[in-house]
Amino acid sequence: MQQDCIFCKIAKKEVPVQPVYEDEQIIAFPDINPAAPVHVLVIPKKHIANLLEITPEDRALAGHIMTVIPQVAARLGVAEDGFRVVINTKDNGGQTVHHLHCHILGGRFMTWPPG
Ligand code: C5P
Repeated sequence: MQQDCIFCKIAKKEVPVQPVYEDEQIIAFPDINPAAPVHVLVIPKKHIANLLEITPEDRALAGHIMTVIPQVAARLGVAEDGFRVVINTKDNGGQTVHHLHCHILGGRFMTWPPG
């Protein structure tokens, strides 16, 4: 746990959210400022600052996140029409919370390229 990390606090239940999925390693919850009709964040409970900080030790965790994302998308009803997964990384990537998180965005057509 990293002090002052809002997502560590969510993982530790110090800040309440309504999880849409949870297990020992991962929690998924609605984004507080949704950018689409469905907008959920999937995070590892372990503090990893961003994609660049993933190590070979995290291989199983990273794979687990990738298998949970489609399950969460199906649970939220966006699997059939499709959805977008985004991992913003550092400043140019638009990362504002420095705890690895995967955005699942769905429920509308996503344009490309992103802004
Ligand atoms: O990828 P980025 O770091 O910009 O995304 C952080 C996301 O975390 C934002 O979409 C923001 O709305 C969300 N957030 C949240 N709950 C908080 C703080 C941030 O859902 N307490």
